[in-house]
Amino acid sequence: MKKFITLLCVVLMTISTPIFAKSLKIGMVIDDLRLERWQKDRDIFVAAAEKQGAKVYVQSANGNEQTQISQIENMISRGVDVLVIIPTNGEVLSNVIKEAKIDGIKVLAYDRLISNADIDFYLSFDNEIVGEMQATAMVAAKPSGRYFLMGGAPTDSNAKLFRKGQMNILQPKIDAGDIEVVGDQWVNYWLAENALKIMENALTANNNNIDVVVASNDATAGGAIQALEAQGLAGKVAISGQDADLAAIRRIIAGTQTMTVYKPIVALATHAAEIAVVLGNGKEPEKNAELNNGMKDVPSWLLSPIAVDAKNIKETIVADGFHSEKDVYQ
Ligand code: BGC
Repeated sequence: MKKFITLLCVVLMTISTPIFAKSLKIGMVIDDLRLERWQKDRDIFVAAAEKQGAKVYVQSANGNEQTQISQIENMISRGVDVLVIIPTNGEVLSNVIKEAKIDGIKVLAYDRLISNADIDFYLSFDNEIVGEMQATAMVAAKPSGRYFLMGGAPTDSNAKLFRKGQMNILQPKIDAGDIEVVGDQWVNYWLAENALKIMENALTANNNNIDVVVASNDATAGGAIQALEAQGLAGKVAISGQDADLAAIRRIIAGTQTMTVYKPIVALATHAAEIAVVLGNGKEPEKNAELNNGMKDVPSWLLSPIAVDAKNIKETIVADGFHSEKDVYQ
């Protein structure tokens, strides 16, 4: 009997080994969970990675680059196999990523590129096109006039790409004398409260004479629109955005925001989970682009953004289930 039980144990252990195989550990370090967009990214990424058997640890730096470096160090000591990083400041992570690579950890830059570091992959949307979509919509709304440029966080490499895209469209109009740029500011941490102050000052400095605000995302557009509302200008001044935040979609319906750029986060976060697992298993993910980060050409995958205004909310955001019709139209 004793022999039989021992034999049974050996057999059971052998057939159950795959069930107890070491699951991949993924560390997801997020710039700032205070913004609606990143909460969605987290939820979808974690669910998709866990579905593939990985364990995900999540931390948010709340916009503080030093906190983010400590969080990455913490993930390294936890022994994660893959780091998925949404950098607060993509310029300051070279050293900590060097540490991760020494430990054989794979690094995926999520949504924002990380400069001068030996990262394994970059996954994002085509951010220059995002900027082009924003400026194209503004020019369509007001082909000439006084434009105020409101950039994103100066530490975010995407913010520069959005601006580059915007200028691709605006520069010829500026050169032709159709558009006058009456101000150009960047919003620290992408925070609405900072955008509100910038907009208040811009309105004062221009005696409220502003026709267009080229805002780089919905959070900052929200702050700017609050300042416009206080002056009775909301709905009169054209203003762009990005992220298809619920509040922004409601503003578009109410007529106080002109457009947003919808980036299907489900596609991004699900794809990111797949890439993280592929990297964790020591394989190379498929790429459709390569971006130089100052150190190397980083294999990348770029997804396409979609411009959304009052006319196509239903067939984009609602159709995708990004927001429900009930939430959107209240
Ligand atoms: C993202 C935007 C987001 C912004 C603020 C950018 O890097 O691409 O979608 O609105 O950061 O978090």
